[in-house]
Amino acid sequence: MKLLFSICLLGVSLLSGQLIDRWHTYEEIQQQLELWDADFGSNSEPSPGYPGSGIIYHYEEIGRSTHDDLPFWGVRLSYNADVKEDEPRVLFLGQCHAEEIFGVETAMELIDMFLHPEEHIGSMYYQYMKAILQSAEVWVVPTYNPEGLRVVHGYEDAGAWIQDLAYRKNKRDVNANGVFDFVPGSGNDSDGVDLNRNYDFNWIFGDAAWELDPGGPNPSYFAHYDYYRGSAPFSEAETRSIRDFAKAQNFILSIAFHSSRSGNV
Ligand SMILES: [Zn+2]
Repeated sequence: MKLLFSICLLGVSLLSGQLIDRWHTYEEIQQQLELWDADFGSNSEPSPGYPGSGIIYHYEEIGRSTHDDLPFWGVRLSYNADVKEDEPRVLFLGQCHAEEIFGVETAMELIDMFLHPEEHIGSMYYQYMKAILQSAEVWVVPTYNPEGLRVVHGYEDAGAWIQDLAYRKNKRDVNANGVFDFVPGSGNDSDGVDLNRNYDFNWIFGDAAWELDPGGPNPSYFAHYDYYRGSAPFSEAETRSIRDFAKAQNFILSIAFHSSRSGNV
């Protein structure tokens, strides 16, 4: 029900041409991670729901964006989160595609839930939460496309308002003209790389630069240039960061959230 409500809110906000405050901006993500760090980053007795846990929250920069050099972060939730322990690790990637802002909210809510077990004592979730943090590390990356997220929310740059609610990619200056070339609405953004097409796995199936998209069997996916894979696998700083992070942490499982504009998941 909560998700349905959120979808309705997104629909309303898209129709009105701006985003309501409900959604975390890039700056709000950073602020919240810092607030959590102040409350939990050095707190060895964070909650009566986690007796003997030690510190349960640690966050760190795991990469920077390709064009604007914006940092993005990973959060480690675990008993003794200030230490890398010999435990199974799982990864949640909140947001890759800029417009798919549900993933940011899901990731932030997930962190908040784990940090406040006392709110769940008595529910079926509490025992799982405690058992997971005792025996494993949960890593959450709210976004790894921060510059794209800023385009979705809108910002001022040299007197110009930059905003595209349907923006998908990072801001790679593909035509190297020194200008961020985008067109509000789905597709037709000359700049930017689809980060989810930039990994080496199946890279060949992504679009070449400025490839027109005929839509295929699903006309909802009609969107010129939106699936540009980049000049080479891992050409983008964001995907290289995720690759290196994943290798360093050796995750046993990862879940990457996407929320499709077409209604298909
Ligand atoms: Zn996506």
